[in-house]
Amino acid sequence: MKVYLGLGTNIGSKKDNLTRAIDLLSLALGKCAALSQFIETAPWGFESSNTFLNCAAAFDTMLSPLELLSATQHIEREMGRTQKSHNGIYHDRIIDIDILLIEDTVIESGRLTVPHPLMHKRTFVLEPLCQIAPDAMHPAIGKSIRELLEELLENEPNITKG
Ligand code: ATP
Ligand code: CA
Ligand code: CA
Repeated sequence: MKVYLGLGTNIGSKKDNLTRAIDLLSLALGKCAALSQFIETAPWGFESSNTFLNCAAAFDTMLSPLELLSATQHIEREMGRTQKSHNGIYHDRIIDIDILLIEDTVIESGRLTVPHPLMHKRTFVLEPLCQIAPDAMHPAIGKSIRELLEELLENEPNITKG
């Protein structure tokens, strides 16, 4: 099963953080099938002088959605992530791994929402994702990643914050 993840980091050696996370994810999930460029972005939803480095990656995995969430959260903790975000309050983080898409699966449970509920509002998610999966469909909205990105850029051409 093919899954798309969005990764972000804004502390420490950001390039190394993303590379290490991709390595650990490949070990835990299965083969990394595609990796976007690393793009520098402004913090979204909170103030920080530390800019982000973001990327998107595709993996072929046998894990179930909840096993996938456990694996990504385990890697976040292993890499030193401590704080969680609550009610839209965000913090600097060494690594954030969000599950964006799991094929055409739609999940809304307490622990896991797929597709990620804010992915279509975030250029820092859609831009790298569009590099590796422009034609992937958002199963709830019914539009491709390319279409979602174009819409977002049309509506808010200079978006840097939420
Ligand atoms: P945002 O969700 O706005 O990007 P964040 O990534 O900073 O914020 P976290 O602290 O990393 O938020 O995650 C908070 C909780 O979100 C996690 O404990 C997890 O259970 C839940 N969650 C729900 N859906 C997803 C998903 N698709 N990917 C990752 N975590 C998810
Ligand atoms: Ca996130
Ligand atoms: Ca997260």
